[in-house]
Amino acid sequence: AVKNSGRKSFRYYSRALHDAIHARLRMIRNLRKALEENQFEVYYQPIVSLKTGHITRMEALVRWIHPTQGIISPDIFIPLAEDTGLIVPIGNWIANQAIKQLSYWRKKYNPELKMAINLSPVQLRSQEFDDISWIQTLQREGFHSGAITIEITEGLLLNSETRVNHNLKMMHQAGIQIAIDDFGTGYSSLAYLRKFNIDFLKIDRSFVEDLQGVGYELCTAIIAMAHSLGLGVIAEGVETEEQKKLLIELGCDYIQGYLYSKPLPVAEIEKLLILPMHDNHSV
Ligand code: C2E
Ligand code: MG
Ligand code: MG
Ligand code: MG
Repeated sequence: AVKNSGRKSFRYYSRALHDAIHARLRMIRNLRKALEENQFEVYYQPIVSLKTGHITRMEALVRWIHPTQGIISPDIFIPLAEDTGLIVPIGNWIANQAIKQLSYWRKKYNPELKMAINLSPVQLRSQEFDDISWIQTLQREGFHSGAITIEITEGLLLNSETRVNHNLKMMHQAGIQIAIDDFGTGYSSLAYLRKFNIDFLKIDRSFVEDLQGVGYELCTAIIAMAHSLGLGVIAEGVETEEQKKLLIELGCDYIQGYLYSKPLPVAEIEKLLILPMHDNHSV
């Protein structure tokens, strides 16, 4: 009987594994097709200055609008795109979209607006600076320095390779700013922040969520450290007036979160750019 149940559980797991592998293969095939068939869409979320209350920047956040499954979150498909290398063409497509969108919004609404673009470590490892197509698009636009910020994670800097170092250095020289995303969740070192010319720290949502608890001390320390190094601070995931109030007290520079707006498609986010500033949500 024991032997029997062992066999059964083996068969159960092997079936589950088999299904998982097939689901993964199917998704990889679909991901390729999604790129060919233009199923991706870039949503935008405002980043708001706590000093002026104005939208200073938008973060580009990709969505996969699957024809039958609906909207698929980047947390699901970006890791798969990274494993298969598809993140390179997908990432270039996203950045190209975001740059063109910024160019349009600058002409139409606000010549000072800026754009933040998430870059996967895989993108910075697998392409030479001169071959990155969105960099070429950016250079044709001729924006001034600081128009584009790339968001990278701490892990990239920890064991950075020669090519990553070179790419980050070239981007800095090209006037692209660098933000550390989800700051505080990985391995950080003050030395990296200097070495790689980091411009902004984005405080991870988990600390903002816990601002009434231990998050308060962490946010205090991060903001003080960032400012002493001359870096700007953006708090992610700000959902309540109370969190906003505490962040103002701590001297945080920018906030981003559902309190102001969720990430939205172009047509909807534009409504926030059209509004005269005094009509904006009172941030
Ligand atoms: P991230 O770059 O840290 O983006 C912030 C995430 O927090 C976004 O999730 C955003 O929708 C969510 N968020 C913003 N404000 C709030 C809030 O007030 N409350 C809550 N609960 N969540 C909030 P999203 O759009 O699902 O993206 C998840 C992650 O996927 C991103 O985290 C980023 O790491 C990755 N990602 C998204 N777009 C891209 C992309 O174009 N390229 C790459 N390489 N990665 C991307
Ligand atoms: Mg980000
Ligand atoms: Mg983040
Ligand atoms: Mg994140």
